[in-house]
Amino acid sequence: MAKESMDLYTLLLEKSKKYVWNPFTQMKTFFDQEPVIVESGQGFRLRDVRGREYYDGVSSLWLNVHGHRVPELDRAVADQLGRIAHSTMLGQLSVPAILLAEQLVARSPEGLNKVFYSDSGAEAVEIAIKMAYQFWQHSGRPEKRKFITMTGAYHGDTIGAVSVGAIELFHHAFGGLLFDTFRVPYPYCYRCPVGKQPDSCGFACLEALRSTLEEHADETAALIVEPVVQGANGMIVMPPGYLREIRELCTRWNVLMIADEVATGFGRTGRMFACEHDGVSPDFLTCGKGITGGYLPVAATLTTDRVYEAFLGEPWEGKTFYHGHSYTGNQLGCAAALANLELFDRTRLVERVREKEEYIRKRLEVLKDLPHVGDVRQKGMMIGIELVADRTSKEPYPVERQMGFAVCRRARDLGMIIRPLGDVVVFMPPLAAPEDVLEAMTGILIRAIREVTGS
Ligand code: PLP
Repeated sequence: MAKESMDLYTLLLEKSKKYVWNPFTQMKTFFDQEPVIVESGQGFRLRDVRGREYYDGVSSLWLNVHGHRVPELDRAVADQLGRIAHSTMLGQLSVPAILLAEQLVARSPEGLNKVFYSDSGAEAVEIAIKMAYQFWQHSGRPEKRKFITMTGAYHGDTIGAVSVGAIELFHHAFGGLLFDTFRVPYPYCYRCPVGKQPDSCGFACLEALRSTLEEHADETAALIVEPVVQGANGMIVMPPGYLREIRELCTRWNVLMIADEVATGFGRTGRMFACEHDGVSPDFLTCGKGITGGYLPVAATLTTDRVYEAFLGEPWEGKTFYHGHSYTGNQLGCAAALANLELFDRTRLVERVREKEEYIRKRLEVLKDLPHVGDVRQKGMMIGIELVADRTSKEPYPVERQMGFAVCRRARDLGMIIRPLGDVVVFMPPLAAPEDVLEAMTGILIRAIREVTGS
């Protein structure tokens, strides 16, 4: 076909085939799926180059908060652009980076008083790992170099973040590049790692952490955990009180605690940060995604005065934290984040999330009766629906069936973009989506699951 006569979609698709390699995507089959090419967005919808519209059912990968093209955020970025887009934070400061740090400290759990910026969640985690590692060198305990992580953990895709991750499918290819960790179970109650029932287990799966600490605390720098909800492993929800137990054990054994709130932070679970559900203050809190309302790539690692002060010394003493990125503390991003947080306050968004959590829960109740829905997990506006071949035995579908994917493909035809995690269908609408939008979105979700699972 001559290029002039091609429609825009076909033309862009050709260019894409020629030049683009997508993340987390098998490129061999990608183009069979007639990929959506997003051209614009408005409110809670995306629009593709063919003029079709879709609800943004995964908040553009768990980050959109107030919708797309939000006047307040657009204005904040444009105003900042009128001043400067970016200048380095290596050895100097900027107005929005300072003001945002103040806001982050004010909203985070008690004791987290220092903010170190980066550009993605993985980097925020990388920074927490390196800070924890170096902290012990400055504290006279250089032998504390190991990390404890949890089964099914996902902390991003850089080598350090993958080292503390534990999703076989994503991570096995890089085994030879990674540092060793101690791994303890995450409380995945639907498929209990120690074969107990949630109501009577007494947190039996915590025993592994207790014994790991007993044996290895002296060589362990930190534990890293996705607080309250483990995202990429399929929206696994921790029972109340579990995170507090982890915090207490870390304190008792002098092991630093890193709470990775990249997915759970900024209202997603119905609190500003998920740690609040259990009244926990970690030694490090990593955040990203919703920090700019889904506008620009900013992430942050928050830590305590204790950690910060261990790095203070003369320039020649070797206590400096030698880590930074070209775009660390990007002004456009920080300006968007400030406007985002202001809008959180003005719309009382975190409280509203708790109301919407109940609305969504009620809407999804019908799923529980379907023969191929094993578990419906929800905390705030993080929802995972685990599909199974057999509800009684909890037997999964054969991977070749790609059921999660098939449901999401059907949802797309019905007008909503969602992405699965294996056979867990993830639903993460933008936090500000009003009830009528949530009604339409959940309607599509339920219909897609019903049709594809044949129930
Ligand atoms: N940590 C957690 C808990 C996440 O869920 C993610 C991404 O989903 C990351 C870290 C990585 O964040 P990013 O994709 O911004 O690097």
